[in-house]
Amino acid sequence: MVNDPFEDVVGADHCYVPADESLDGVPVSMVVCPGTAEEVAACLAKARESGRPIVPSGAGSKLAWGNRAEAKALVRVDLTRLGEQIKLQAEEGIVTVQAGVPVETLEHAAAERGKRTLLCTLYPGATVGGTIAVDPSGLEFAPDWRLRNDVLGLQVAHPDGQLERCGGQVVKNVTGFDLVRLYCGSFGTLGVITEATLRLRPLPEARRLLCRDFETRETAFTVSRELLPCEPRAAVLRPQGNAARLLWRWEGVEADVTQRARGPEGARLEAADWAQVCAEAAGLAPRPEATIRIRVSARASDVSAICTELVDLAGQASLRLALPLVGVVVAEVPEATLLQILERAREQRWTVFVERATLEQKARIDVFWPSPEALPLMRALKQRFDPERILSPGRFVGGI
Ligand SMILES: Cc1cc2nc3c(=O)[nH]c(=O)nc-3n(C[C@H](O)[C@H](O)[C@H](O)COP(=O)(O)OP(=O)(O)OC[C@H]3O[C@@H](n4cnc5c(N)ncnc54)[C@H](O)[C@@H]3O)c2cc1C
Repeated sequence: MVNDPFEDVVGADHCYVPADESLDGVPVSMVVCPGTAEEVAACLAKARESGRPIVPSGAGSKLAWGNRAEAKALVRVDLTRLGEQIKLQAEEGIVTVQAGVPVETLEHAAAERGKRTLLCTLYPGATVGGTIAVDPSGLEFAPDWRLRNDVLGLQVAHPDGQLERCGGQVVKNVTGFDLVRLYCGSFGTLGVITEATLRLRPLPEARRLLCRDFETRETAFTVSRELLPCEPRAAVLRPQGNAARLLWRWEGVEADVTQRARGPEGARLEAADWAQVCAEAAGLAPRPEATIRIRVSARASDVSAICTELVDLAGQASLRLALPLVGVVVAEVPEATLLQILERAREQRWTVFVERATLEQKARIDVFWPSPEALPLMRALKQRFDPERILSPGRFVGGI
C-alpha cells in the first residue's frame, strides 16, 4: 500500500483523516501535524506536488474568518506541535517563539521576567502564529501600538519547500523590503509562519480599570477623545440603547497611573466586567440569532458616525462595541441589512470585515470589503509566493 505523501513527512501518528470536518462547507480531507519547521516546509512541498490545497491552523478560533476556500477539499496543517519553544532574551528586549505556542503560555513566561508582548489572551489556546496571521486590532491597541509593529522577525515556510527568515532580532533590522509586515495579517495565504521574534515591553507596575456611564453615545465619544492626550492603554465604548458606557485602562508606573487617574472622572471597574468586554470582543458572548457579525474600521474620529449609520440601517441593538482609539465598531446585524451596510461603507470609504456570515451570504460578498485599490498588486504577490494556489486559495481579500 502507498503511504499518503504527508504521512511520509510527519509519520502515521501525526496525520489523520477527520471524521467530519469542513470549513465553510469545504471538506477537510486530512489533518497533518508537523513537529518542526522543516516538516512544515516539507508538507507544503508535498501539498504543491500533489495539488492538494492546505489551510494552516493554530487553535482554530478564527479559522472561519475569511472567504470560502476555492477548493474541493482542504488539508489542514495543524501547527500546535510547534508549541513549546520560547527563547526569552529579557535583557535584549526580545523573545523568539514557535508559531504554535499558545499566547497564554508566552504571556506567563514573559511575566515571570517582568515583561509582556502585545499579544494578549482573548481566546483560550489561541496561538502566536494564528494571531500574527490575523493581526487583529484589539482592545489594547492605539494607532501606534499595533502587533505588526512589534513583530521583529519571522520564519516562514513556502510551498517550494523552503524556509525563509525575514526581519531579525533588533528594532531597526530591515534592509530592503519589509517582508515581515507583508505576512502579518495575510491569513496564511503567502506562507506558513513557523517562528516569530517579538519585542518585549516592560510589564506595567500599575493598572487601573475605570468606567463611566453616559446618557448619550455622543457624550461618551467626546469624553473618549479627552482621554487621548493621557494615553490610555485601552478604551472601549459599550452602547446600551441611546446611552453608552465608556471603559478605559491606565497603565504604567504607579505615580504616573495615579496622576492620570486624576484625568476624566471614572468609577473603578471590576476585573470580571473587563473580562466580559474581552469575551464580547473575541466573539465569545452569546449572540442574537440570525445575525451577521461585522467589524467596521475607519479613522478614530469616524467611530461616532459609523455607529449612527449602523443604528439607522440595523437598529440600536446591533451595536456591540466600539474602539474609539483605533476606529473600530463591532456589530451584529440582521442578514437582510448587510448589503445596504456594505454599500454605505463603500460610499463613506470605511472598510468592513465580515467576521461571521452564513454560507449563502459568503457566496455573495467579499468578507474583506471593499476590495483595495492595490488588489492587482496583491494578486501579483500571491502569484509569486504561491503560484499553484496551495495556501488557503480564495480565502483572502478579493478571493486571493
Ligand atoms: C491583541 C489582540 C487583540 C485581539 N483582538 C481580537 C478581537 O478584537 N476579536 C477577536 O475575535 N479576536 C481577537 N483576538 C484574538 C485573536 O485574533 C485570535 O484568537 C487568534 O488570531 C487566533 O489564533 P488561533 O491560534 O486560534 O488561529 P486560527 O484560528 O487557527 O487561525 C487564524 C487564521 O490564521 C491562519 N493561521 C493560523 N496559524 C498560522 C500560521 N502559523 N501561519 C500562517 N497562518 C496561520 C489560519 O489559516 C486562519 O486564517 C485578539 C488577539 C490579540 C492578541
